[in-house]
Amino acid sequence: MPPIAFLGLGAIGAPMAKHLKNPDFDLVVWNRTPSKAAAFAAANGARHAKTPAEAARGCQIVITCLPTSREVASLLDGPDGLLAGMANGSILVDCTSGDPATSRATAARLAEKGIGFLDAPVSGGVVGAEAGKLTVMVGGDAATLERAMPALNTFGEKIVHCGPVGAGDAIKAVNQAMLAVHIWSLGEGMLALSKAGVKPEVALDVINASSGRSNVSMNLFPQRVIGRAFPRTFKLALIDKDVRIAAQFLREQNVPSPLTQLTAELFAAAHAELGEEADHVEAVKVIERTGGAEIK
Ligand code: NDP
Repeated sequence: MPPIAFLGLGAIGAPMAKHLKNPDFDLVVWNRTPSKAAAFAAANGARHAKTPAEAARGCQIVITCLPTSREVASLLDGPDGLLAGMANGSILVDCTSGDPATSRATAARLAEKGIGFLDAPVSGGVVGAEAGKLTVMVGGDAATLERAMPALNTFGEKIVHCGPVGAGDAIKAVNQAMLAVHIWSLGEGMLALSKAGVKPEVALDVINASSGRSNVSMNLFPQRVIGRAFPRTFKLALIDKDVRIAAQFLREQNVPSPLTQLTAELFAAAHAELGEEADHVEAVKVIERTGGAEIK
């Protein structure tokens, strides 16, 4: 069984890593807060490492899933860093929803040591991760992806080679900007309908049989806004980061993007208002506060 390392046992990282605990791999995990790695290892029969270097030693594939590309880059250096543990010929697969420029810089640094890099952000949420049915969007060269496939297949159902390093991050950011637009526009529309006396269940019943429907209207709003549950599965802080990446990417490509830029401003303000622990769908609460009513 070849060893494989997974670093970053957060809301989505932990259920992804669980799929690597299978007969094909000898899983070793590392997490910034060591108690989480120890608990994960004990519950899943994996080993846990004290440092990124220790986790990476002897592994052909090292997977990271951290908040941003910046945290990934910060794990590379020092005596305990990934570069101290990763061998020539090994691969870093970064499942963070990262930014293309930092991923390219990280790939270049790794290439100097003969180490491959793939940006491989995922979509499908915590539910998709638990079910092993994530979509994985990969940037990097095809031969490197081929070698990483056995690992990606454990938690991914649809694995798409998107282009060179940074392409996976770019597609993920554009997808996230669309998710953010859907949340905000449906929140505004539903609040107006609610104020006009239309029941939210009735509004969603119509919208979900019509051309405005989306994952937000079909799943997120019925489960979270109507039920006022707002489970914390994907942080508002992270979608704020994603929309910023999209806004930056569109500016770099010289695409006039007023909608994406405004969405980035709205989510940055919502993040500032609701704090670090709020879930992304809770952005609707800002619309409700400024609109002076609740969607009900
Ligand atoms: P969480 O905030 O739940 O977890 C973040 C993880 O990163 C934790 O393991 C945390 O360690 C670690 N971490 C944070 N800062 C540092 C640091 N400076 N150095 C080392 N480790 C650090 O995030 P998620 O798991 O939700 O998200 C991870 C990535 O996946 C993000 O890029 C996100 O956008 C993306 N994603 C998330 C989805 C979701 O549904 N949650 C869906 C699709 C993509 P510690 O335990 O010590 O805090």
